[in-house]
Amino acid sequence: MVTVHRLSDDPTAAWKEIQKTQKVFKLNVKIPTKPVEPNKVRFVCMSDTHSLIRNIMFDIPDGDVFIHAGDFTKCGQRDEVAQFNKWLETLPHKHKIVISGNHELSFDQKFSNIFKKKMASRQQTIEEQVPSTYGNPKDDICDAVNTDNIRQYLTNCIYLEDSGIDLYGIKIYGTPWQPEFGGWAFNLCRGVECLSKWNLIPNDVDILITHTPPLGHGDLVCSGVRAGCVELLSTVQNRLQPKYHVFGHIHEGYGVTSDGKVVFINASTCDINYIPNNLPGSCDRKQHLRE
Ligand code: 5GP
Ligand code: MN
Ligand code: MN
Ligand code: MN
Repeated sequence: MVTVHRLSDDPTAAWKEIQKTQKVFKLNVKIPTKPVEPNKVRFVCMSDTHSLIRNIMFDIPDGDVFIHAGDFTKCGQRDEVAQFNKWLETLPHKHKIVISGNHELSFDQKFSNIFKKKMASRQQTIEEQVPSTYGNPKDDICDAVNTDNIRQYLTNCIYLEDSGIDLYGIKIYGTPWQPEFGGWAFNLCRGVECLSKWNLIPNDVDILITHTPPLGHGDLVCSGVRAGCVELLSTVQNRLQPKYHVFGHIHEGYGVTSDGKVVFINASTCDINYIPNNLPGSCDRKQHLRE
């Protein structure tokens, strides 16, 4: 059983301690040059595209399964979701899997309800309710939280939210939750609250998709602090041991690492300046892992 770490609330300090017992291998990301081999399944991973798909300057590699690990919009407005859905239709992949991130406000019913209640009370200005609107105009946020049944606009993918799917005998599970930061969607307190969501993930998952990184992999913020979830790392390493853990959220943590068993993929397409510069690549698992 995974328990809450003593330093759960301070991931930077927790990693200083935990890293003494771990190795982190950096893996090279390459754009695949060959077509998919008939006896293999290729996954192509992206995240954090933030409604900037039209600014992407690279080709998206073909493959069997496309994964998007959240933050596909700026604030979860209906038009943004519809535009993303239209783009998904143009992708050649046979299966497309999408999860939400903290920017998909309209997908988090609890966030929307609380926000609407606060608006109705008119006791606070919108700037007080949402400390930073991440540059989103207030009308866009109101529009997002007032959209009902937003999932109906995602018709060209499999949307996972604390749920899973089997493809080619590979068990895939997706969950949008992340440690609280800025008061946006799918935020939970570090420790018990986050762990309660990780506890829903089945033991036999092969590919785990979360929006947040775990501690120590793809979670180093440019300010020098660690933002990953301590209990997500413990859950992945001690209970799940999936083959791959795909996430995004910390844009500057883009890249692929491994602890020698699990391959951790921070698939953030946008960089720290919200410019969609990072390539959706592939890496050879066998070349780097000592099993
Ligand atoms: P987003 O707003 O797209 O979810 O995150 C954008 C950026 O905000 C990240 O690349 C990172 O620099 C910062 N950020 C997001 N979450 C956290 C967090 O939990 N802690 C810290 N320190 N920075 C974060
Ligand atoms: Mn993001
Ligand atoms: Mn397993
Ligand atoms: Mn995010």
